[in-house]
Amino acid sequence: MNAFVLDAFDYCRREERREGQIAVADLPRLADELADHSGVLHWSLQGGANKLGHAQLTLSVTGPVQLRCQRCLTPFAFAIASESILILAKDEAGADEIDALLDDDAIDVIVGSHAFDVAKLIEDEALLALPLAPKHATCPDQATLDVLKTAKKDSPFSVLKNLKQ
Ligand SMILES: [Zn+2]
Repeated sequence: MNAFVLDAFDYCRREERREGQIAVADLPRLADELADHSGVLHWSLQGGANKLGHAQLTLSVTGPVQLRCQRCLTPFAFAIASESILILAKDEAGADEIDALLDDDAIDVIVGSHAFDVAKLIEDEALLALPLAPKHATCPDQATLDVLKTAKKDSPFSVLKNLKQ
């Protein structure tokens, strides 16, 4: 995990860019929310600055995960595809100040550090990208039930047909 720790302010100043992959199994808080621990997330992190000169990170996280359907409790595939702009502040007070200054709900202001944990950032991003109430559009169990219902409806005719023979 040490490969994921960087000096966030330095990273932005140098406009560095990194990308890589991280296994869902290595992100315990995310893995807890999922039906299983399979899947690998692809991430990229671009350093830079916004118009006002604040250090800015652009984080992108994509990849397939297995969610558990709240209706039928079976797993289903969900594709995480998330991108966020994060402004770095030196401390909490600075974060509040920048937040008020920018007045933009689409931009998050976070406290940066010289030992910044990118894995934690990727995990937070992935968690925020998950639906609050994951559900199949059509649950497979429900589809099976519907087939059975239809079959039952048909059965008196089948019985009749059999009697005629
Ligand atoms: Zn379902």
